[in-house]
Amino acid sequence: MPTELGFVVTRLMKENFKGIVDVAFTAGMEEQLDKVEEGAVPWQQVVSDFYTPFEKDLEAAGANIDKVKLPDPVSDVPCDKCGAMMVIKTGRFGKFLACPNFPECRNTKPLLEKLEVPCPKCGGDILKRHTKKGKTFFGCANYPNCDFVSWDKPVPGKCPRCGGILVQRMGQNGPFIACGDRTCGYIQRSRKDKE
Ligand SMILES: [Zn+2]
Ligand SMILES: [Zn+2]
Ligand SMILES: [Zn+2]
Repeated sequence: MPTELGFVVTRLMKENFKGIVDVAFTAGMEEQLDKVEEGAVPWQQVVSDFYTPFEKDLEAAGANIDKVKLPDPVSDVPCDKCGAMMVIKTGRFGKFLACPNFPECRNTKPLLEKLEVPCPKCGGDILKRHTKKGKTFFGCANYPNCDFVSWDKPVPGKCPRCGGILVQRMGQNGPFIACGDRTCGYIQRSRKDKE
């Protein structure tokens, strides 16, 4: 899926650089470059034909386009200080939740990343969390009502041996998929092995 920023950039390019955001331009340029290669046209001519109108477009775009400020995506988490729905911001250390009423309300929270896999105990969401020391683990969103927790990242699918959850573990040769229950011991063979 294109991002919001991608849509904005494409729209601005189409509006302000009609001459080059165009299939005919690309095809024509290729033809011209072929002629340069063949020695039929001097490259200075080709570059000048391109650059003279482009320079004007560039100047006009610089004067016409306002600085674009994308709205922050709204999360489904209410601010526990003022009740506003918190927005997702990107900082130096990744994404986090911030109150939209900044600077009146300066509340921020870590953004909890939700996995695509439901909790095997209660069907709720599994969230990526961090211990106080920064180690990643995965826990049920319904904690403390549900005590599901895993150091390894749960992945979609069921263990074909015991029907339990599958998790991703790190091995010497990179990540591999295995049963979440170590006493079961099931390990999924990699795609390479299957081939
Ligand atoms: Zn707030
Ligand atoms: Zn649960
Ligand atoms: Zn198993």
